[in-house]
Amino acid sequence: KIIEAMAEPIDVGERTVHTSFSIGIALFPDDGHTPAALLKSADMAMYHAKESGRGSYRFFTHELNVQAVERLELDSRLREALHNREFAVHYQPQWSLQSGELTGAEALIRWNHRGEAISPARFIPVAEENGEIVAIGHWVLNEACRAAARWRAMGHELTIAVNVSPIQIRRDDMPKRVRGALAVSGLPANALELEITESLLMGDDSHAFGVLATLKEIGIKLAIDDFGTGYSNLAYLKRFDVDRLKIDQSFVRGIDTRPDAGAIVGAVIEMGKRLGLNTLAEGVESEPERAALHAAGCDDIQGYLLGRPMTEEALTQLLEKQAASRNK
Ligand code: C2E
Ligand code: MG
Ligand code: MG
Repeated sequence: KIIEAMAEPIDVGERTVHTSFSIGIALFPDDGHTPAALLKSADMAMYHAKESGRGSYRFFTHELNVQAVERLELDSRLREALHNREFAVHYQPQWSLQSGELTGAEALIRWNHRGEAISPARFIPVAEENGEIVAIGHWVLNEACRAAARWRAMGHELTIAVNVSPIQIRRDDMPKRVRGALAVSGLPANALELEITESLLMGDDSHAFGVLATLKEIGIKLAIDDFGTGYSNLAYLKRFDVDRLKIDQSFVRGIDTRPDAGAIVGAVIEMGKRLGLNTLAEGVESEPERAALHAAGCDDIQGYLLGRPMTEEALTQLLEKQAASRNK
């Protein structure tokens, strides 16, 4: 009832304001014996309500507590992972659909903690919350630039793509970090692509906009990751001088059989062409998907069909093999 009541628009002067409400509920005595303990449980339940979409409510449960404890553990282990050299960067090849050549690679972080591989999908959100992402992101950027410079020295001119968290844009001095990584590695700016998400370009974060403009001035490329899953405010595409749209895997999966997926991907590719943007399809897993993307005029693809994320050495071998077959 409270959520429904709060969903009613409120008139403020000439404007109508919409609000949303999330509620966490804790019950005495099961969820806490003191006011402070009850509030803490209710708070945890409220965050969970927010995560599962705004405008809902959740009761505190024992599992929530277990999750919170796990998160805390991850948090403290993350703070030592860089120092203990537990991270590695893997590289996933990107291919031109028209020429079939390997034209780029995306740097993807891997965390091996005491023999257990922890997925970035699990730990990046925690690193964003505790701020560790700034140091981790800096490390990945430097590793990736160095690897790309080594490949170029061997004659392989590929673009290296690095994922950048909104937290890095907001809290770190990214232009300084990027200039530093380029200078130390000797990599030319136009061989570096930074992947950002649509959410960063939403709203009017003037600081973020300024940082992106400065990064573009340095000469790097800008790609929108997971395109189509965010708010897709199309006006930003031209405003930020974006170079590439990475079409999210959720639209690519089954593009050959699902008419709706095919229509969305087709429209994105067409829009990219009109705006002069490169389009890359993510997560291509099957030959029919590749063929459908080729027919739709997509520029590049990345996915398990043509190559999983791999170590620097493995990608070096792949590049050498490609160069050898080209010279035959
Ligand atoms: P992303 O940037 O969209 O990366 C693509 C993800 O899709 C990677 O997962 C990749 O391994 C996976 N993938 C590639 N091809 C296929 C395919 O054919 N099928 C399927 N099912 N999956 C495929 P990964 O490596 O687990 O990374 C997950 C996410 O974590 C990334 O999504 C990115 O958002 C984030 N991430 C990874 N490394 C970094 C990093 O260094 N910094 C930041 N800020 N985020 C990172
Ligand atoms: Mg990415
Ligand atoms: Mg993606």
